[in-house]
Amino acid sequence: MSNSTTHTLDESLYEHLKAIRSQLPVSVRLIAVTKTVPADIIRIAYAAGIRDFGENRIQEAATKQAQLHDLPDITWHLIGHLQSNKAKKALELFQWIHSVDNLKLAQRLNQLAGELNLKPNICLQVKILPDPNKSGWTIPQLSDDLPALNHCKNLQYQGLMTIAPFGLNESQTLDVFNGTRELAVEIKSQNWSNIQMQQLSMGMSGDYQLAIEAGATMVRLGTILFGERLRSRISDYQEPG
Ligand SMILES: *Cc1c(COP(=O)(O)O)cnc(C)c1O
Repeated sequence: MSNSTTHTLDESLYEHLKAIRSQLPVSVRLIAVTKTVPADIIRIAYAAGIRDFGENRIQEAATKQAQLHDLPDITWHLIGHLQSNKAKKALELFQWIHSVDNLKLAQRLNQLAGELNLKPNICLQVKILPDPNKSGWTIPQLSDDLPALNHCKNLQYQGLMTIAPFGLNESQTLDVFNGTRELAVEIKSQNWSNIQMQQLSMGMSGDYQLAIEAGATMVRLGTILFGERLRSRISDYQEPG
């Protein structure tokens, strides 16, 4: 980072991140989604005060966490689909797993968490509308699985996560987020001994304002934080001289 152009871009990214963060209600936790974003950019986000980072691939997260090991107070969130065979690695790398999307995976995580003496924070990923492109529980499937989920005592269930299906208009998207909140309220009213429903992880760059309107407590933002800026930064690297 020796030339002044790059320095200016760092500063403008820093200001941009601070601005986005300051626009969010203080009650909403910003998870900066850093998939494909290199570690030196994550450092700028850290400098701007961001402490929650979301990744969707285990190996990519492991590499960046090693590069950032000097930053001790980061909370890492897994937001992408998790295969059972990577569950152990996921527990070692992430304090939160937002993408727990089936009972078998939850049970596997519970068993491994016991062995590793960990108490991971878990969101249950749900689908309020049918979406062949996304995993997650439908409402009836989740009702069926709640008793077994409640038995997984090493998991700290924090709430629900959802991704709005692609191509909905604003009011349909809002319906999805409101439906997710209503489902959380319904589960909460059942008073499960081990299932908390305080958190709603919903909202991405294109729809986070709607998600916040519907009661999101955590938003997962990537493109709006890093998108254009990262591209200009990369082209800056490639410029001669
Ligand atoms: C990539 C991703 C995000 C961030 O999406 P943007 O549109 O870039 O903000 C949020 N949640 C999940 C599950 C993702 O995979």
